[in-house]
Amino acid sequence: MTAMIQIQNLNKIYKRNQFKALENINLEINQGEIFALLGPNGAGKTTLISTICGLVNPSSGTIKIGNFDIIHEYRQARQLVGLVPQELTTDAFETVWNTVSFTRGLFGHRKNPEYIEHVLKSLSLWEKKDSKLMTLSGGMKRRVMIAKALSHEPKVLFLDEPSAGVDVELRKSMWQLVHQLRKSGVTIILTTHYIEEAEEMADRVGVINKGKIILIEDTKILMKKLGKKELIIELQDELKFVPQGLAIFDLQLLSNGKTLKYLYDTQKTNNGVSDLFDQLKEHGIRTKDLSTKQSSLEEIFVKLIHQ
Ligand code: ATP
Repeated sequence: MTAMIQIQNLNKIYKRNQFKALENINLEINQGEIFALLGPNGAGKTTLISTICGLVNPSSGTIKIGNFDIIHEYRQARQLVGLVPQELTTDAFETVWNTVSFTRGLFGHRKNPEYIEHVLKSLSLWEKKDSKLMTLSGGMKRRVMIAKALSHEPKVLFLDEPSAGVDVELRKSMWQLVHQLRKSGVTIILTTHYIEEAEEMADRVGVINKGKIILIEDTKILMKKLGKKELIIELQDELKFVPQGLAIFDLQLLSNGKTLKYLYDTQKTNNGVSDLFDQLKEHGIRTKDLSTKQSSLEEIFVKLIHQ
């Protein structure tokens, strides 16, 4: 695998208040991967991506994009990067077409109307190409921000909180777009508060808290490793309490008296499910229905942050 982004021993201390926003960050992001950076408010997500994109100066450490050092070879490094910032900054009186074409020009690229057309079409903005930005909805403005970030054909796209303030439908269509972009070879790094978004999209997840990366893991492995499963057992007859003989199991009787919840570790070879059923039978507890639920990345995330 080729590394697209290489970060070594990165530290950021904001001079103004001597606040240490990033502490000894070491991270490699592979070409063509979707990487989600998760963390609570103020964890350092925006600082990290702004530093990679050259908007914030690192205090120490090195960052390379496509093997170009962001300080010594900043021109080449910046050419590779597209950033969709958290805040919508659009030129209200400009048309969609002009603003996107202009941004391409800023990067020193030759005009390429076919490419801009392709970008606008893939973002469902084609019908709006001659509309002034101020006439667009918030969701459409956000798409324009993405179009601007893509205007110079970047190899890495940073999306800072792409779903903030966006409705469910647009969020889903943005997820589709991100997958499409990845297919075309673009590396994507997104920051998010929406765990569902990371779970849905990312190949790998990095958890950042108080300026430190506390975990980097393949999303699926993370879910498996830390995930617990909940077995929900509907009972035929009401139960007043969990019998003493079943105390060894992590069981919870819901207030309706007819539902038992059993929490078990998916990684253990002996997860206790079969023993539990033997015991239920022995105690004359008859079951009616069963279902399971995998614990979400959200539960895992909260657990990690608290640790
Ligand atoms: P959010 O999810 O709320 O956007 P974040 O993880 O992106 O948060 P950052 O915006 O990177 O967090 O901020 C990290 C910390 O650095 C915060 O405590 C913030 O107050 C501080 N910080 C950010 N920018 C500056 C600055 N220019 N000067 C001083 N401190 C700053």
